[in-house]
Amino acid sequence: MCGIVGAVSHRDIVPILVEGLKRLEYRGYDSCGVAVHQGGELRRTRSTARVAELETQASTEGVAAGTGIAHTRWATHGAPAVHNAHPHFSTGPNGVARIALVHNGIIENHDELRAELQAKGFRFESQTDTEVIAHLVNHLYDGDLFDAVQRAAQRLKGAYAIAVFCRDEPQRVVGAREGSPLVLGVGQGETFLASDAMALAGVTDQIVYLDEGDIVDLQLGKHWIVARQGDGSHRPVQREVRTVHAHSGAAELGPYRHYMQKEIFEQPRAIADTLDGVTDIQPSLFGDEAVRVFDGIDRVLILACGTSSYSGLTAKYWLEAIAGLPTAVEIASEYRYRESVPDPRTLVVTISQSGETADTLAALKHARAQGMQRTLTICNVATSAMVRECQLAFITRAGVEIGVASTKAFTTQLVALFLLTLTLAKLRGRLPETGEAAALRNLRHLPSAVQSVLALEPQIIAWAEAFVPKQHALFLGRGRHYPVALEGALKLKEISYIHAEAYPAGELKHGPLALVDAAMPVVTVAPADDLLEKLKSNMQEVRARGGELYVTSRGIWPRV
Ligand code: GLU
Repeated sequence: MCGIVGAVSHRDIVPILVEGLKRLEYRGYDSCGVAVHQGGELRRTRSTARVAELETQASTEGVAAGTGIAHTRWATHGAPAVHNAHPHFSTGPNGVARIALVHNGIIENHDELRAELQAKGFRFESQTDTEVIAHLVNHLYDGDLFDAVQRAAQRLKGAYAIAVFCRDEPQRVVGAREGSPLVLGVGQGETFLASDAMALAGVTDQIVYLDEGDIVDLQLGKHWIVARQGDGSHRPVQREVRTVHAHSGAAELGPYRHYMQKEIFEQPRAIADTLDGVTDIQPSLFGDEAVRVFDGIDRVLILACGTSSYSGLTAKYWLEAIAGLPTAVEIASEYRYRESVPDPRTLVVTISQSGETADTLAALKHARAQGMQRTLTICNVATSAMVRECQLAFITRAGVEIGVASTKAFTTQLVALFLLTLTLAKLRGRLPETGEAAALRNLRHLPSAVQSVLALEPQIIAWAEAFVPKQHALFLGRGRHYPVALEGALKLKEISYIHAEAYPAGELKHGPLALVDAAMPVVTVAPADDLLEKLKSNMQEVRARGGELYVTSRGIWPRV
């Protein structure tokens, strides 16, 4: 899922579209493109190079107009190539391009729709699932683009955010959201669309967050929104315009080489901000309704994806040991599709940095549809869909996380989950006053403790250098440190492209030990706790096979 920007204005919007794409570049992409309504026809330019290249291309080719859309693509269907890059066009019966469309997400029934549209004579130029939407809108178009998109949406299965315009309606762009984020930007006599408000920073701070199923009609200085109803049809709806001081993508890196490094070093501040104002443990930390929502719960179900699921898994150890609450952690994309046994006395906790994670939102809806109405989200974006959908919310104060690989969001989620554990333990009479005071003291010490870990950067860099030639790595942990090992393996995979796996250390002897030799670095999360002795035996097993151990403990041990 990548980036969308769109605009309807009197002025040339190509610089705004390109600037918007640049602000979304940090998300990564493999190709990009822009299309405009120029001289009575659709024009586009696309590239598999950087957005800066696209910008030069657009200016050389003289692409300039007041209505247009732009996209950065992360290929899911069809190779990263110019002919698969968005915007996609659909050509009318007279051989003239009539519809231009960009899309984030995946259309699940694209095969069926493609066959149907091919039978009607539409010619496909790409391998993308996106192109079927362009042709479908064209097929359903009857002089009103807003209407055509509403009818097309009824046929689409999957997750999408789209922006589309039509040759026959020069000053109109239509957007739709289903499972992928999309916002409307309200300017002075002009309107904008983007997959993230950050893309519109400096253009407008008047933002409407579209809801799932919303379709928006953008015209010069005016807009209309319709919401999807239960039967798939749409009805007009008013959505609040909020003033959002979106952070500009050009945020200073300061002394750091990239955003991820910067964000790693922001952890002490992010944790301190998240704890700001927490003077004692009380349900109101999670919202006004918390006493009622927490009352009588007898279990917790955590729904999340990726890094957030690992913070959830850590919380399972806490919630069971400290609050005495049975806790299940489910990967959202599994939970939403499987048959499970609902219990209305469950507190459903969703965790998501953005609050827009499509699988987690769908899993939340699934849980509610099964009769579990007590919902809490732990999220970093107060204006997100997840916050709107849940009864309770705890907003982490990590600040904008630009790096796609989560860092400070993870640690602030852990802080929030620990506060939740303490709150539920207190409500259940399992947290004596002395315990509460000690826990708060320890939490307040956390920023400086993290600071001292960050001071180990030179040693960590030396470790990283040793990892460069490696193909594989193992991460080991025990107890609540096992999820931390999982998170470590995920970071190594997504950032270094080195295959990594995490195991509870006790599992080593049940198979993975066979993989350990001198070429296999083994990272061990080994804080000085009651499981350290057990972990030491596991480390002996690794050494016996010539494995290279990298041990993080209280402080860092030298390489052994
Ligand atoms: N599924 C679409 C494609 O492969 C959109 C991918 C995206 O979200 O960038 O072109």
